[in-house]
Amino acid sequence: MRRKVIAGNWKMNKLPNEAIEFIDSLAKLVKDTKNEVIICAPYTDLFYVLLQAQGTNIKVGAQNMHFEDSGAYTGEVSGEMLKAIGVEYVIIGHSERRQYFNETDETVNKKIKAAFKHGLKPIVCVGETLEQREQGLANDIIRTQTKLALDGLSKDEVKNTIIAYEPIWAIGTGKTATSEDANNSIKEIRNEIEKNYGKDVAAEVIIQYGGSVKSKNAKELFETSDIDGGLVGGASLDPEEFSKIVNYDK
Ligand code: PEP
Repeated sequence: MRRKVIAGNWKMNKLPNEAIEFIDSLAKLVKDTKNEVIICAPYTDLFYVLLQAQGTNIKVGAQNMHFEDSGAYTGEVSGEMLKAIGVEYVIIGHSERRQYFNETDETVNKKIKAAFKHGLKPIVCVGETLEQREQGLANDIIRTQTKLALDGLSKDEVKNTIIAYEPIWAIGTGKTATSEDANNSIKEIRNEIEKNYGKDVAAEVIIQYGGSVKSKNAKELFETSDIDGGLVGGASLDPEEFSKIVNYDK
């Protein structure tokens, strides 16, 4: 049975003092869950979050990384740097990075490979725009993004990749895909993985749903056959609300 993984993506929010307070509150609220809890914080909060999360069941992720290890890339942070401070996860290819920072399927693939090289676990985002969905292209888009993102990885690496299916029209908009639609899209992604890496890999890989997940809709989404938890943006900023999503099964 696959585990449920609930990851918060704070995006460009929270100063260090707010981050410390958040982890302190959340730790108490989620200490009894058997679900995996991850907080993906801005770079400037990571060290504080890591310290505060010590001895709790909260794991820590970054929101992006560069694919090179070091060099003349002003403003960038490498996987090696994240690993050195104790970060475990890294979001790669979030739609906001694809949209505003020229992230492509090629850079996503390079970053995933660099993440594994440094012992980080990638959370890879795929998802279609509203226009693509209305044109009936959603399944093609998510299958292609999945294929290109994972290209050249070993079976073991694919098993250790978390995929987040995030329809772009549902991110930060308050619109959620129905649990049935989200589950069907995630089955498409799983089928694509099965086609390229076999049934056993596809059966193991964690695939989350992301897009306006809240405490009100988490249970319905996460209890479907193929949705293995969520990547949560807005609702991850409040410890009470986020803890209710983590504890959806209580
Ligand atoms: C996200 O940023 O990955 C996300 C899903 O955001 P929200 O939950 O706010 O829609």
